[in-house]
Amino acid sequence: MSKVATQNKMEAIEMKRDVYQMVINGERVDSESKETFTTYNPATGKPLAQVAKATTADAERAVEAARNAFDNGKWKKYPVNKRARVMNKIASIMRSRFNELVELEVLNSGKSLVAAQGQVMQSIEDFEFYAGAIVGHRGTVNNMPGGFFNYSQNEPVGVCAQIIPWNYPMMMAAWKIAPAIAVGCSVVIKPASLTPLTAIVLTEICHEAGVPEGVVNIVPGPGALIGDYLVENPNVDKVAFTGSTPTGKDIMQKASQTLKRLTLELGGKSPNLVFEDADIDGAVAGSLFGIFYNTGQSCEARSRLYVHEDIYDEFMEKFVEKTKQLKLGDPLDKGTHLGSIVSRGQLEVIDGYVKSAIEEGATVVTGGEELKLEGFEDGHWYAPTIITDVTPDMKVVREEIFGPVVVVQKFKDEKEAIKQANDTEFGLGSAIWTKDQGRATRVANQIQAGIVMVNCPFSAFPGTPFGGYKQSGFGRELCIETLDLYTEQKSILSYYGSKPVNPFGV
Ligand code: NAP
Ligand code: MG
Repeated sequence: MSKVATQNKMEAIEMKRDVYQMVINGERVDSESKETFTTYNPATGKPLAQVAKATTADAERAVEAARNAFDNGKWKKYPVNKRARVMNKIASIMRSRFNELVELEVLNSGKSLVAAQGQVMQSIEDFEFYAGAIVGHRGTVNNMPGGFFNYSQNEPVGVCAQIIPWNYPMMMAAWKIAPAIAVGCSVVIKPASLTPLTAIVLTEICHEAGVPEGVVNIVPGPGALIGDYLVENPNVDKVAFTGSTPTGKDIMQKASQTLKRLTLELGGKSPNLVFEDADIDGAVAGSLFGIFYNTGQSCEARSRLYVHEDIYDEFMEKFVEKTKQLKLGDPLDKGTHLGSIVSRGQLEVIDGYVKSAIEEGATVVTGGEELKLEGFEDGHWYAPTIITDVTPDMKVVREEIFGPVVVVQKFKDEKEAIKQANDTEFGLGSAIWTKDQGRATRVANQIQAGIVMVNCPFSAFPGTPFGGYKQSGFGRELCIETLDLYTEQKSILSYYGSKPVNPFGV
């Protein structure tokens, strides 16, 4: 058992610690500078814990540990069944610590209990999914001319830097770690500075479950410094990033220097189309969830709502009414629908967008302001916001807000709905509400987005490909094919004829 596993067992019950350390080469360690940074509970604005602040020297040690584990270690040589067993063990430890992980996620992100429960459960299921998937992951045998035999095998790509955002701190860590270690890669995770805690604990759990030292490392620290260092390090073979489109572009440019493998899951401005033949109550409920789930801080948030002109008034009356009924409050209360915004900075970004919409002539139908909640006065709370009277060129329609703000427009027919849906540089999610199966299929086929939800409020389960078209990035996560993105395909071509081949004939 590695040191971290022993330490972790002792502290399994104790959730809050003085310092959340990094994990490098199977050990919990302080930063070489001894520096820490404070992570907060965004619902209260109060400090939650201290976190070791990695320097580039720490990041270098983490990459070396991952490199060594990959080049000389045993993980990738384990029979797949053994790797799968360890991954199922990770899932079962997470299950046994479910409430603790949920609570820690709520405290560090401000999200609601119900949202955190779903996300921690999905994180567990991700490990189970990839434990199963890896056993069936195989190469190919290809048709060849007589005398030749060709097969291909999948080999792990190597050391992966995995840079994750603050909106789904544990789930993003699971989406990244599970497929990578399933195929035998080693990883260095850079969690978001706002929400590092659950990814740190997940890394510890990986060791407790039997992942050998050096295979899963985590280095919390400033993105511009540590993220950059990892992306430029020649010992890193692949970068998997989820976050903003500008940071994604920066990473792509830097990763090109060493031609690293790259998966980018970036921003979105997903359309939500409600047709005149939709089940109105179902569409209202799904549209509400589509934008306000996770307090709107989702890359696939359905933030552009388009409603057919014939049902616009009826739909909007219900949509506004239900939005006003959404409960904001103690995130640990199971009746809370929306938790807080992740930080003051993010709240100011959201409010800035709303103000820009008002200046450009839009109408705020409900919300549009910061809230002061009793008992949470220093937290970051924003009212669920609906904006109408917008035009397609407004900032609030074109840019990702990443908060509980939806812009609403009308359309008159299918053609116009599709045109409006595709009028964006992004292409991550989209939703269609209609009872006409033919229309659902036609529209789904024409939408330029990686994900189409038909009469469905949810965007993903383990197994569904998740990723974007256009500037929402490339590569798909959460699905079987993700395993291919963590492997290189090697072709082995051999000749088995009884006489040697002599192509030059000399
Ligand atoms: P971000 O800058 O893209 O951050 C995401 C991750 O990348 C964090 O771990 C961050 O570290 C790291 N990072 C930052 N700069 C980096 C760099 N130069 N090289 C490598 N890694 C770097 O996102 P943000 O600043 O937290 O949020 C800004 C906006 O991004 C939001 O308002 C939202 O619109 C969008 N966003 C999108 C998603 C998504 O799922 N698509 C998720 C989060 C945010 P630090 O935390 O230390 O900065
Ligand atoms: Mg940033």
